[in-house]
Amino acid sequence: MVVIDGAFGEGGGQILRTSLALSLVTCKPFQIERIRANRKKPGLGKQHLTAVNAAAQVGSAHVQGNSLGSMELTFAPQQIIPGRYHFVVGTAGSSTLVLQTILPALLTVPTRSELILEGGTHNPLAPSFDFLEKTFLPILCRMGVNITVSLERPGFYPAGGGKFSALIEPTNQLSRLDLFERGIIKKCSATALLSKLPQHIGERELNILERELGWPARNLTIEEVQNPYGPGNALIAKVECEHITTVFTGFGERGVRAETVAHKLAEEIREYLDADVPVDRHLADQLILPMALAGGGGFRTIAPTTHTLTNIEVLKQFLAIDVSLAQLNPAVWEVTIK
Ligand code: ATP
Repeated sequence: MVVIDGAFGEGGGQILRTSLALSLVTCKPFQIERIRANRKKPGLGKQHLTAVNAAAQVGSAHVQGNSLGSMELTFAPQQIIPGRYHFVVGTAGSSTLVLQTILPALLTVPTRSELILEGGTHNPLAPSFDFLEKTFLPILCRMGVNITVSLERPGFYPAGGGKFSALIEPTNQLSRLDLFERGIIKKCSATALLSKLPQHIGERELNILERELGWPARNLTIEEVQNPYGPGNALIAKVECEHITTVFTGFGERGVRAETVAHKLAEEIREYLDADVPVDRHLADQLILPMALAGGGGFRTIAPTTHTLTNIEVLKQFLAIDVSLAQLNPAVWEVTIK
């Protein structure tokens, strides 16, 4: 039984989700204590509980402690069962994080799976649907994965109501990937997504991106959500390079000026552009797991976050892997997984 300390490092939900994903693919049972101990409201939230129950269903697992607020969990998978699944977070909690929890396991089985996921699709502090579709999954596809996702309706905090589907084909073995160069920048663009909110919010956000990043106005668009469920605003910027497309997502919040949302996002994008690396801070922590399952890989990125450092430690508890981090210059790091 692998024993995980949920308070370690970042001490958030990712330790749990990475443990669930790895337990499923390795068929090793685990026990986790002090779940999300470093968060304001520790223990299992709706999103985490949905991920646990989804993993339990997919892996026919014996589970103890799968209740809201629980800080301890035991999870023992029996067998991965591909098929049709429908997982509902029930709040605005991130549904993309639920998909990331069970995706590695569903790749390893001989037949396809069709999933419907409901909850938040554009959440602060989680991969937005656009990041999932345009950044994370295309890199997995280069490692041999065959998956398509389709957004039916975006879901924002606090109303939720988002929905997307995923069609996952089996993959025999993930192939190794080295991502050291991003190549030339082909296009920079942004969309201000508005749900039940006035146009001027999008216009003010895009004006800031135009002014601070010098992106051409013709690449900046406003999109209004059809059949909106609740109010929400995501500012979705896309940097398309020869070898990778990176999506950066900012979120409108009550009481935060549209200019501030866009300015913060512009700073994050500028840091990425200046570093001349292919992998941004978020993809970095999410790539370690698939690269470890592929038996190795490497990439260049900006300074590793505590999410990345923590994820590496969780991986080492389930897999015999070696991960090295080398700082190449003040802004650039190289991660190698063996
Ligand atoms: P909590 O920490 O409250 O438990 P959580 O369960 O959402 O929250 P975290 O441990 O914080 O989990 O993990 C969040 C994941 O979402 C990380 O993989 C992180 O890289 C990713 N992420 C956060 N913000 C973005 C973003 N803007 N774009 C892409 N991915 C993101």
